[in-house]
Amino acid sequence: PLTEETVRFGKYQGDTTLKAALEASFRKQLITCKVKENKNLGDFSADRATVFVDMQPETEFKYDPGDHVGVLACNRKEIVDAVLERMKDVDDYDKTVQLQVMKETLTPTGAIKTWEQHERLPAVTIRQIFTRFLDITTPPSTTVLKYLSKACTDQNDAAQLKELAIDSNKYVDWRHLHYPHLAEVLAQFPSCRPQASLLAALLPSLQPRFYSISSSPLAHPHRIHITCAVVVYRTQNGQGPMHYGVCSTYLQNLKPEDEALVFIRRAPSFHMPKDLSAPLILVGPGSGIAPFRGFWHHRKHQIKNLIPNKQKPGPVWLFFGCRNRGMDLYKEEKEKALADGVLSKVFLALSREDSVEKKHIQTLLEDEGAEISRMLLDENGHFYVCGDCKMAEEVQQKLKEIMKKHAKMTEQEYEEFILNLMDENRYHEDIFGI
Ligand code: FAD
Repeated sequence: PLTEETVRFGKYQGDTTLKAALEASFRKQLITCKVKENKNLGDFSADRATVFVDMQPETEFKYDPGDHVGVLACNRKEIVDAVLERMKDVDDYDKTVQLQVMKETLTPTGAIKTWEQHERLPAVTIRQIFTRFLDITTPPSTTVLKYLSKACTDQNDAAQLKELAIDSNKYVDWRHLHYPHLAEVLAQFPSCRPQASLLAALLPSLQPRFYSISSSPLAHPHRIHITCAVVVYRTQNGQGPMHYGVCSTYLQNLKPEDEALVFIRRAPSFHMPKDLSAPLILVGPGSGIAPFRGFWHHRKHQIKNLIPNKQKPGPVWLFFGCRNRGMDLYKEEKEKALADGVLSKVFLALSREDSVEKKHIQTLLEDEGAEISRMLLDENGHFYVCGDCKMAEEVQQKLKEIMKKHAKMTEQEYEEFILNLMDENRYHEDIFGI
């Protein structure tokens, strides 16, 4: 078991870079990107920010529209500083150290104790460990709470933390209401002064976040575009302190010339079809529009440069939804793509705009049901859905209603139809999470 006696920060003399350390920790080859532009996509009336980030990778890389970019973010400085301030065993946070764990090996002559390098955390500074390697914003696990209770000097703090760590009902309620990050937990228990090395060994890794690439390698060579909805919320049912999503806030705050570390993750089941004549039905409300922006730029370039004059590309229908007009992402670009004949139709559902009928994307699909059914059945059409899991389920439910109504399918016929569509790689989903 990990204890204050079996974990320590050892000295490190070698040469190391943060990028190499992150690559070793995540076992991924990373691409350094320089930010070229970062702007808000909505207008001031939008109640949630969505940002567009244009990055220029420093090295060669390959992707197709539909692929994801993994971003390695930084925790917010305020939280990192507040956490580091409370550590009991560190005098210099900016010195490179190597986290070490004591291993005991039994030999015929007795137990031998050796200090071994921690497998997940390479040699970097303690500040970097807490900024780039550790998840300090998800509420701490009961294992971490148990340790924190031992690191309190006040009996009351220790008892309360211990209770949270062992009473699962209390823990779940506390976690749900406060959703506290580590600095908030330490603030709640002021006598707690943990040992940084043990805490580092107990905390989970800060996971990369994925974004659906919004650019096209043909239209934007040597660039990666991201469309990111910024996560901001108040805990305690909206009454508590403001919380900021780690990576979306990191992306929002990037300035031109800043560097970010990313990697590409292929998503072959979400690529555009090779057959350019196949109709495309693209369904992506909110930031779900992200990959489709890459699609229409790609198609525009294909039409201009690749498709022989006589070949007519298939129709591309885009279904987009948002709360109000201020959040109509890429409005001008969509209008231009329509005027250029790259997008054939663009449908907009506004769910909270005053003075217009409130609509969700599913209603728009229903209105166009007859054509959608025809494109899928008779024209080898492709159906793409991008966004959260709940929306994707509702869209599939709507497609079922459409096919039952317009293609007169029975429940069983629909089940076969949708399975076939998936088998033929014509039903594509890019799901962001819950
Ligand atoms: P985190 O720090 O991870 O915080 C999010 C967490 O905060 C939630 O899980 C929840 O626990 C909590 N939370 C959020 N809101 C509330 C609330 N109101 N009340 C209480 N708790 C709350 N996102 C995009 O914007 N664009 C994309 O193109 C995109 N593509 C994706 C593709 C894939 C394959 C996947 C898996 C995800 C994609 N995402 C995309 C989502 C993205 O990866 C991140 O999850 C998102 O940006 C939030 O990350 P974060 O680090 O900012 O938030």
